[in-house]
Amino acid sequence: MFNTLSDRLTSVLQNLRGKGRLSEADIDATAREIRVALLEADVALPVVRTFIAKVKERAKGAEVSQALNPAQQVVKIVNEELVGILGGETRRLNLAKNPPSVIMLAGLQGAGKTTLAGKLAKWLKGQGHTPILVACDLQRPNAVTQLQVVGQRAGVPVFAPEPGNGVGDPVDVARKGIEEARRAQHDIVVVDTAGRLGVDEEMMRQAADIRAAVQPDEVLFVVDAMIGQDAVNTATAFAEGVGFTGVVLTKLDGDARGGAALSVREVTGQPILFASNGEKLEDFDVFHPDRMASRILGMGDMLTLIEQAEQAFDADQAEAAAIKMGSGQLTLEDFLEQMLALRKMGPIANLLGMLPGAGQMKDQLANLDEKHLDRVQAIIRGMTPAERDDPKIINASRRLRIANGSGVRVSDVNDLVNRFFEARKMMSQMAGRFGL
Ligand code: GDP
Repeated sequence: MFNTLSDRLTSVLQNLRGKGRLSEADIDATAREIRVALLEADVALPVVRTFIAKVKERAKGAEVSQALNPAQQVVKIVNEELVGILGGETRRLNLAKNPPSVIMLAGLQGAGKTTLAGKLAKWLKGQGHTPILVACDLQRPNAVTQLQVVGQRAGVPVFAPEPGNGVGDPVDVARKGIEEARRAQHDIVVVDTAGRLGVDEEMMRQAADIRAAVQPDEVLFVVDAMIGQDAVNTATAFAEGVGFTGVVLTKLDGDARGGAALSVREVTGQPILFASNGEKLEDFDVFHPDRMASRILGMGDMLTLIEQAEQAFDADQAEAAAIKMGSGQLTLEDFLEQMLALRKMGPIANLLGMLPGAGQMKDQLANLDEKHLDRVQAIIRGMTPAERDDPKIINASRRLRIANGSGVRVSDVNDLVNRFFEARKMMSQMAGRFGL
């Protein structure tokens, strides 16, 4: 899912690279392309409109960050707005103060409710809970058996009506299921309910009755992300007919365009809590809006890099260093500070690996010697402030002392000092040439 959208957005944003400044026209053109990409991915029109308006406003506004270039700033804005429409913060399950908590599942037939019940039960078990499943889908033939099968696979008990007692009353089964949970001390009850192929009144009423009877802590609307725009209509119908407190997206492994997934939160106002991406019980996870957004943007870990650059960047320090570089006054102390700022962003190899297209560079990156950087750092740390300030005073006996103190050879100290002088000379020549 999201492949086409991801490709489109990546290429739109890549076109901005290398631009020193973005004009209004650049921003308008980019916004237009993003709009088309979202509409083609089947994102609901009102969601697209709001999204584009926000991106444009922010990109044109005075959101200047010295740490980022204009293209990075647009990536950052698009990413943040995507996270926003996906719900912002990761939303955890609300559980009752006094167990058992009740989680009710609702949605169309085939949405993946029963499968989800098993996935959820397994996941809850992994979190240290003791869930029980309750089979209230008494409409679909085999639904009860299917739930029993997934329950067995997940290793959790299933409460179901006795066979041979006719169709039975789902509300009654739900109530009894909760009594059973209380009796056997299960802390969470997952109630599976009936779905229909299309939205119909009776199904809605039944779900609403179960909700009223058992007062669940969460009602999760389970929706198949493959059904496109229809997901939005179904979600709206369920929001009115039953009401729900959260959404679970299923079949994210499909190759649909993903618009439903991007619209459902904004259209219903309810957060997405979980996502299912396959038929197996393990194909399930908590939904993290930020991770999903960066997956959609397909920018590798570019976004992490942007975040880290912002955190590590100290504008004043960098400017002071630049001035000193230009005037040939750079000291080893400045050098160390710059190096530490860069390293604060993480290992250099990781840092380079995050850049898009770094894939082919992997081997070289693996050879990049972090130890060498450690050595440089240790040598500078072994110097006195006076030596760092004016490396010219570092004579032979000082070199020996520094080498001994920092556990390296004298030749390493010589190397560093010589390279530093060369670099300083080159920088001031360059600065002269560019009139800095
Ligand atoms: P229910 O009618 O809502 O209970 O839906 P089911 O749980 O019976 O699921 C309907 C079909 O969708 C089954 O064949 C499931 O194996 C399949 N299914 C459920 N979740 C996923 C998913 O995340 N990915 C894929 N590919 N199939 C799924």
